[in-house]
Amino acid sequence: MSATVEVEHLRVTFRTGAGLPGRRSGTLTAVNDVSLTIPAGQTLGLVGESGSGKSTLGQAMLRLVPATGRVRIGERDVLSLPRRGLRQLRGEAQIVFQDPYGSLNPRQRIGAILAEPLAVHRLLPPRDRPARVRELLDLVGLRSDLAQRYPHQLSGGQRQRVAIARAIAVNPSFLVLDEPVSALDVSIQAQVLNLLVDLRARLGLTYLFVGHDLAVVRHVSDRIAVMYLGRIVEEAPAGALLTACAHPYTRGLVSALPVADPETERVRERIVLTGDLPSPITPPPGCGFHPRCWLYTQLGQPERCRTDQPVLRVVGPDQSAACHFSRELAASPLGRAPDAPTRRRHVPVPVEGSSG
Ligand code: ADP
Ligand code: MG
Repeated sequence: MSATVEVEHLRVTFRTGAGLPGRRSGTLTAVNDVSLTIPAGQTLGLVGESGSGKSTLGQAMLRLVPATGRVRIGERDVLSLPRRGLRQLRGEAQIVFQDPYGSLNPRQRIGAILAEPLAVHRLLPPRDRPARVRELLDLVGLRSDLAQRYPHQLSGGQRQRVAIARAIAVNPSFLVLDEPVSALDVSIQAQVLNLLVDLRARLGLTYLFVGHDLAVVRHVSDRIAVMYLGRIVEEAPAGALLTACAHPYTRGLVSALPVADPETERVRERIVLTGDLPSPITPPPGCGFHPRCWLYTQLGQPERCRTDQPVLRVVGPDQSAACHFSRELAASPLGRAPDAPTRRRHVPVPVEGSSG
């Protein structure tokens, strides 16, 4: 059963430098006033460069790091659950991490790894667990004899399939997928993405799909939210985000996407984002993106960008962006996408052969 997921004014702060000799302690706001909705059965893609707060947001939504604000998964009010409600929450919402090696116990056989959540959540009596383990392996496209193996005897793609099987073992309605294919070979990535797309449909799941690579995220997402320095700077249906984005940062990400047609690729203009993500300990004043913003430069460095934090506002049908100059962006020749990449239901699998 899928669940609608709603986040309102979510904020996560970390203390930094505390206890380190010679370092002043301070606070870092990793997630800053984030609100979003994922309709039941849909995938929201969350993109942004490393350090923008994506993992912290995903973890805060499952109460794996402390946060303020409000999170609702189906009927459950996550942040106000008493401690004894946490096990029920884990039965409803699970997370899959980037590195399956780090998240699977190396001393347990795959069968035991998959049987453990069934025991913890008291889902099945011991005698029925082996059959469910075989069923889970089958669901993620693995042979049942892999139950006898240890994680190090599997390929990276197989390990990530096991991590996915463990996440769905408890019949959750919502999954946070935190860069689930980033550690895999490119040839294996598409197979695992297709598995995730199929499982969502078969099991009626709702996904938050976190990734740093828009080229990956766009293939699996109904909507996409772009995160920058702890804030959502744009949110739109995947198609609109790629063809008519309303934030100069998004435009930079879209501009870096490979274009299939070599002629278009040769002549198109590219926006290169210079510099690094600023530290969230000392965020720039005004719009956090302005020191790297090509539109800010193009418009002659308007003062407003240095003094006012832009709020996320509606800029089109079903589309929001946090830029003072979204309208000017739409009018800029650099503000438009060179062609209209279409969203595919399935990712083309580049290499023939067995599942990874
Ligand atoms: P992303 O997943 O987008 O790469 P993260 O959510 O991991 O970003 O990190 C966002 C910011 O929060 C980064 O500046 C990171 O250094 C900081 N951060 C993450 N976890 C902690 C923590 N436990 N303590 C202090 N700072 C943290
Ligand atoms: Mg991360």
